[in-house]
Amino acid sequence: GRKSVKGFLRRNLFVLFTIAAVALGVILGFALRPHNLSMREIKYFSFPGELLMRMLKMLVLPLIVSSLVTGISSLDRKASGKMGVRAVVYYMVTTLIAVFIGIVIVMIIRPGRGSRDSPVVKNGNIEPIQTTDAFLDLIRNMFPPNLVEACFTQVNLFFSSWNETVEETVPVSGSSAGVNALGLVVFSICFGLVIGNMKDQGQALKEFFDCLNEAIMRLVAIIIWYAPVGILFLIAGKIVEMKNLAEVGGQLGMYTVSVIVGLLIHGLFVLPLLYFVVTRRNPYSFIGGLLQALITALGTSSSSATLPITFRCLEENNHVDKRVTRFVLPVGATINMDGTALYEAVAAIFIAQVNDMDLNFGQILTISITATAASIGAAGIPQAGLVTMVIVLTSVGLPTEDITLIIAVDWFLDRLRTTTNVLGDSLGAGIVEYLSREELQNQDADLHNSVIEE
Ligand code: ASP
Repeated sequence: GRKSVKGFLRRNLFVLFTIAAVALGVILGFALRPHNLSMREIKYFSFPGELLMRMLKMLVLPLIVSSLVTGISSLDRKASGKMGVRAVVYYMVTTLIAVFIGIVIVMIIRPGRGSRDSPVVKNGNIEPIQTTDAFLDLIRNMFPPNLVEACFTQVNLFFSSWNETVEETVPVSGSSAGVNALGLVVFSICFGLVIGNMKDQGQALKEFFDCLNEAIMRLVAIIIWYAPVGILFLIAGKIVEMKNLAEVGGQLGMYTVSVIVGLLIHGLFVLPLLYFVVTRRNPYSFIGGLLQALITALGTSSSSATLPITFRCLEENNHVDKRVTRFVLPVGATINMDGTALYEAVAAIFIAQVNDMDLNFGQILTISITATAASIGAAGIPQAGLVTMVIVLTSVGLPTEDITLIIAVDWFLDRLRTTTNVLGDSLGAGIVEYLSREELQNQDADLHNSVIEE
C-alpha cells in the first residue's frame, strides 16, 4: 500500500521530475515563441540550461580518466582483455547494423528523389579531404603528443586537412567539449593496464584513482538535483530559437523522417532484441532504468556531457557491475555511436539522390565503411557528426557544400541520434556484463580467498 507507493516515488522521483521538465520545457517554449524574443533574450532565457551543460562537461575529463584507470587496473589482464574484445565486437556489430538499417530506409523512402528543392550552393574552394587522411587522423588522435593539451584541445577528425572554409560552411554549435577524448581514453586504458600489472607497487595510484572516481560520482549525485531545471531550459530555449517547422517540407522533411524511422527501428527494436537474445532479460525494463540518461542526451545533444548521468543510471538503477561500467562506458561514449553512423549513411545517400547520382554497390560499401569511421571519429559533442560527414561525402565524390542542405534540421536530428548513441552504449554495458559474468565471479572468488588468507 502506502509504503510501496512511497518506495516507488523515491526510486522514480528524478525520472518523474525529468519527464515533467521535458513537458514543461516544451510547453514553455511554444508559449514563448509568438513573442519573438531577440537572440540576446533567448540567451538569457537559456542560461540555466547552459549552466547544466557546463557542470556536466566539467566532470567529463576526470570521470573518463579515473573510471578507466580504476576499472582496468582492478581487473586481471585476462579479464580486461576478454571484456575489451567483447565490447569492441559489440560496438562494431551494432554500428554496422545501424548503418545497414539507415541505407535500407533511405533507399526505400528515397527522400532526395525528384529535382533539387533548393538552389545549388557552390562553395568551390573547399579542398577535398582524402579518406586516407581522415583514417590517419583518427589514429593520430589516439596518441596525443601532449597530455595536458589533450585535456583542453578538441581534435577534429581531419585536423591536418582542416580547412577554414569547411568551418564556415558547417557552423557547429557548442563548438567543443574541450577534450581529445579518444586520446585520453587510449592513454587511460594503457595506464590502467600498467598499474594493474605493478601489483603492490601500483597500489597508491590505484587507490588514488579509485578515490577520485568515487568523489566525482558524488559530485554527479549533487548535479543530478539540478538536472531537471537545466533540461527544462535547454529544451524550452531551443524551441523558442528554432526556425519555423512548417518551412521544412519536401525533400528535407522526408530526409528527416528517414533518419527518425531508422533511429527508432534501431533503438526500439534491434538493440533491445539483441539484448534479449544475449541475456534473456527484459530489455525494456533495462531501458526504463536509463530514462534519465536518455532524456539528458535529448536535452544536451552530447553523449560526453551525458556520460556522468549514464554512469549513475547504469550503476544505481540497473545495478551493472562497476568494473564493467567504468571500463566500457567511457570507451563507448567516445567511439560507439550507432545513431551517428546511421545518420551519416542516410545523409550521404540523400545528398547523392538530390544530385541524381546513382550509387553502385562499391560506393554504397564505401559509404558504410566511412560512415562507421566517421561515427568513431566524431566527438560526443553537439553536431560533431555533421562535421565528420565531410569524410563520407568526399569518399564517394559528393559535393561537401551540400551539407548546407541538411543543416536546418540537424540540431533536431542531433538530439535523437545522441539519444540512440547513449542507448547503444548502455545496452552494450549490460550485454558485456552478462557475457563477462564468469570472469567477474572468478575475480570475486580470488578477492575473497586472498582476504581469507590474510
Ligand atoms: N552529438 C552526438 C553525440 O554527442 C554526435 C553527433 O553529432 O552525431 O553523440
